[in-house]
Amino acid sequence: MPLCKLCMEEKQLVKKSHIIPDCMYRNFSDEHNSYVEVLPEELLDQNSLSRRRRSGIYEGDILCKNCETIISKFESYGCPILYSEGTLNPKIAINAKHFTTNKGKTFSTLENLDYTKFKLFLLSIIWRCSISNRVEFASVKLSPGHEETLRQMILTGDAKSIRDYPIIFSYLKNDLKSSEILIPPHKVRRDYFNTYRFVITRFIFDFYITEGKSIMNSLEEATLKPSGSVLIFHFDTKDYIKDLILAKGKNS
Ligand SMILES: [Zn+2]
Repeated sequence: MPLCKLCMEEKQLVKKSHIIPDCMYRNFSDEHNSYVEVLPEELLDQNSLSRRRRSGIYEGDILCKNCETIISKFESYGCPILYSEGTLNPKIAINAKHFTTNKGKTFSTLENLDYTKFKLFLLSIIWRCSISNRVEFASVKLSPGHEETLRQMILTGDAKSIRDYPIIFSYLKNDLKSSEILIPPHKVRRDYFNTYRFVITRFIFDFYITEGKSIMNSLEEATLKPSGSVLIFHFDTKDYIKDLILAKGKNS
């Protein structure tokens, strides 16, 4: 019998596990849920924007039925927060507030999130990309130590502390095109940490691959907190592309 990659037990494995949650693909704004998958360096090239895909990527023989259920429970919690009526769900994130700074920057805050469920929902995506054999996720390879820690966190439902694998959460505004773009998770060196950045349906997730070390105040301020609040930066797509190119330059 093969080994399930989450519980590490010999079990019958399911034939179809999504690596990126299905709800994310279902929420592309295009009427056919089609989307454009681009690599970060291709983002400025108009020709690459014509390469459309229509369905999500899945893989068989990685998870048993039980573990598939563990992950789908996190998805049932996380997906409606991101996608209810195309916006952040006011019923779950009941205290969503929106702010504009005196320099014209905008951001939102969410409160009353379930820290464990929402954090593990997001971390399960980067863990699945890392264990996946699909070529589309070949650029995501966590070290064996981090992969194992995340496996145990997901399996036991332990989201650990604010300093363990913090995630920064941003939103692309003012550009319809950005709602149809998927940039697969890719490595970016950010704030002295190795991070993986993933862009889908206007959301940008920066996963900081760090455990137990101190993190700077600004990161601690913005990431999802055990109290259930999180800060969401809003970016203009053009500014975001500039930032992306800068980060890419630092990384190379
Ligand atoms: Zn399992």
